[in-house]
Amino acid sequence: MIKNIKSFITSNFSKSGDVKNTYYTELLETFDTQGCVICKLLEISVLKYLENLLHEFTMDPISRREIREAFGYCKKHTEQLIEVTKNTNQRLSASIVAEDLANYFIKHSKKLLKSGIKSGTGVFKMRRSCPICKYYSKHEKMYISEFSKGTTKEEFLRKFEGSPGICLEHLIKVSKSIKDRTALKRLLKPQIAMIEETDHELNNFIKKFDHKSSERITDNEASAWYRLFERINSR
Ligand SMILES: [Zn+2]
Ligand SMILES: [Zn+2]
Repeated sequence: MIKNIKSFITSNFSKSGDVKNTYYTELLETFDTQGCVICKLLEISVLKYLENLLHEFTMDPISRREIREAFGYCKKHTEQLIEVTKNTNQRLSASIVAEDLANYFIKHSKKLLKSGIKSGTGVFKMRRSCPICKYYSKHEKMYISEFSKGTTKEEFLRKFEGSPGICLEHLIKVSKSIKDRTALKRLLKPQIAMIEETDHELNNFIKKFDHKSSERITDNEASAWYRLFERINSR
């Protein structure tokens, strides 16, 4: 049983080889699913973080202080917290966190009123970064590091070549730490093939749509624009 969110996070960043291998194994196992493997794993990590927060960590003083000092999460992660709360029906836990935040906001704001607000400095200049964003970037670094190391292994590259590739953002980040030119080429080739296929469908759609052709537009052609944007800048 995880004792608190701090140990949960720390355990994922332990220097032990076993934990590091977990990232590698997760990458290998997740290659079979759709989309960018790194985005997918990060999405799962954040989801687990929020579920753990609602199940076990709402009474943990360290976690609550982190949330307070950041005045809650960023917009994206607040939306996710709301969604996870609704899906898991953990309204009591969410209310405890929300009440904590309300108290902190009131206390902080009243202090400001008393001490006098200076214009141009902002009222929450001490706001800390979103704890989930910090958690996300730490995990992202680990996945990118293990991904880059993986490109020196044949089993890893074979799995990658059979997968739908990674998003542009992660391709750029991963490629920055790969020194081997052959590995870089093997990383780029499946990406090019996939974009070429989507490009072909985009061309077909534009041609058929523009010329009011009698040829039927396929579902894949109609959704190609979405898949391209999703692939390039999402997952
Ligand atoms: Zn990605
Ligand atoms: Zn965030």
